[in-house]
Amino acid sequence: MTEQTDLLIIGAGPAGCSAAIYAVRAGLKTVIAGGSVPGGQLLQTNEIENYAGFVNPVGGFEIMDTMHKQCKRLGVEFTLEEVAKIEGEKTPFTVTCTSGKVYQTASIVIATGAKARWLNLPEEEHLRGKGVSACATCDGFFMRGKNVCVVGGGNTAFEDALFLAQFCPKVYLVHRREGFRADQVTVEQARNNPKIEFVLNVVPEKILGDDIVTGLRVKNVQTGQTKDLDVSGVFVAIGAVPQTAFLKDSLVALSDSGLVLADERTHTTIEGIFAAGDCADKYYRQAIIAAGSGAKAGIEAAAFVNKHR
Ligand code: NAP
Repeated sequence: MTEQTDLLIIGAGPAGCSAAIYAVRAGLKTVIAGGSVPGGQLLQTNEIENYAGFVNPVGGFEIMDTMHKQCKRLGVEFTLEEVAKIEGEKTPFTVTCTSGKVYQTASIVIATGAKARWLNLPEEEHLRGKGVSACATCDGFFMRGKNVCVVGGGNTAFEDALFLAQFCPKVYLVHRREGFRADQVTVEQARNNPKIEFVLNVVPEKILGDDIVTGLRVKNVQTGQTKDLDVSGVFVAIGAVPQTAFLKDSLVALSDSGLVLADERTHTTIEGIFAAGDCADKYYRQAIIAAGSGAKAGIEAAAFVNKHR
């Protein structure tokens, strides 16, 4: 059976929810397809201290639960459906879910987020939130006064290292080769920071600690020698993977790294399809920015639908 709607939002994180709040309040019948675990990356974040509006640190689950309740109060419909494909080059679009359910919708907001790329070490998952993190901006402050390391050689790793060096006595920058993807200015800033020490030509071999991180064992890729870094925090900054694989066969254009190509008003290459949050964000990947871009997408989708009614 095909269900008709004005707006189908794919993703139930801060971007999807903010888009829904704006769209439903502008009179659109709005459905969020959030998948089986709706809420996105915030669900894995223990404490958030950088989302404006909360005096004290707040749990990621709590923020998402509140957003979902807010959406529901306003009349947004939630479904646990997972979207498999989008078809159509102009409104209305056909959206098919993995269950076989089909939506026909006047507009779409893609807000599927991104997943941090992890090292895939066996201890990594168990120690996540106990010293292992993929977000220095979110979790760095809890490491104040402690030695930490950052893994990666891109801009994120360098910016994380510089950020952490503001309140950590020692920051090891752990990278698998001598060349960096990060821009030269940022690399020089880190090189000139006495708290940052480069540990190069190594790959992480084991995260040490039973219930809490106590170190990182790294292996030199040239000599095979291992060494243990005495750290309480391991920040993994080896890139993020946008959740856009389901768009591969659609007409929505993606960048080489899989980001949805969207302009500053969240318009994708298809009129009536918008993108917001980390699935389209090359630089920030912060919850509050995802929420802001979601609001833009909701406003744009409402304008589009109301114009085509
Ligand atoms: P990135 O540029 O893709 O860098 C990822 C780094 O992780 C690379 O140095 C890579 O090593 C390393 N890496 C990848 N897989 C690894 C593995 N399995 N084990 C160990 N190391 C691994 O990612 P990013 O730093 O997150 O940046 C993403 C994009 O956002 C980039 O375009 C970046 O310029 C942009 N960004 C911009 C700013 C800014 O302008 N202020 C800030 C942050 C990010 P190799 O180099 O050896 O491949």
